[in-house]
Amino acid sequence: MTEQKINILPDYMTALNAVDQFLTLNNRELILPMLRTSVIASPITNIEDLQIKSFSGSTKNFFITVDKILFKHIEFVDEKIRPNTFEEFLNILTSDDKNTMLYGVLSASFDTLDKRSMLCQNCNEEIIFDVKLDEMVHEDTFKNQWNKPVSVIDWRETLDIFGNGQLKITVKYMVESDILKMYEGNSNSKIKKLLEETGKPYSQSELTAATIDKIEIKQANDELLILDNYDSIYNFYTKAPIQLQKKIIEKIDTIELEDTMPVFYQEVQCPKCTTNNTFYMTDLSKDLLNELYKLL
Ligand SMILES: [Zn+2]
Repeated sequence: MTEQKINILPDYMTALNAVDQFLTLNNRELILPMLRTSVIASPITNIEDLQIKSFSGSTKNFFITVDKILFKHIEFVDEKIRPNTFEEFLNILTSDDKNTMLYGVLSASFDTLDKRSMLCQNCNEEIIFDVKLDEMVHEDTFKNQWNKPVSVIDWRETLDIFGNGQLKITVKYMVESDILKMYEGNSNSKIKKLLEETGKPYSQSELTAATIDKIEIKQANDELLILDNYDSIYNFYTKAPIQLQKKIIEKIDTIELEDTMPVFYQEVQCPKCTTNNTFYMTDLSKDLLNELYKLL
């Protein structure tokens, strides 16, 4: 008996998907601000768009779905940097590069996003407008790039918390796999609440633990104890005395890193008084998350 392949898609969708394979008209080339490398973003298919828009499940799985779409539609020009597996991709993906990729894939796929509204800064008139993706990149959008001699992925900085070598904390730059670990233990309602209250989808403690690569503690017998996984670091940090938590945060805050977040914005003219207003789309990941919570 031969196995028959069943096509569950309507034929026009199959045809559109086939066209997607060879249509490269809309491909967009961008430079990632953190990895400082060229990528080519290709348009998503209707099915992938539907997958995102009809998602139901955990926040972690939502982001895995989005990340898989990015992995498929972002081509690294330099093969020395190009990730071979999805896991490798998650380990080199920082939030500023992810925002850049999201922009690339969205602008390769759509001319406009859903309508938005803002109040005119001059006359307070409500302006309803289309987000025009082609108009969101300006000279200063990617003004700042990662500027350390070592790559963002290999960058580490060790902080001696008390200055006597007893407690050392090594900090890294958070990547997508760290962020997914943060989401793992949290329900959608908890993440939604955090987002509403703090504007961030994770708590300060989770963020701190995800930023720490390892903790070295000199024990009484001079033996070195090393914590180097997220759960141990999170538990150590959250159960540490408040004064120590503060000290750790203070030390981490002394590290100066350039603000590399790409700034996407669009000039929107008020129809009433003709004043130009600036609409900022600063964090596409957060925008997507907000879209997700409208669905759930
Ligand atoms: Zn106005």
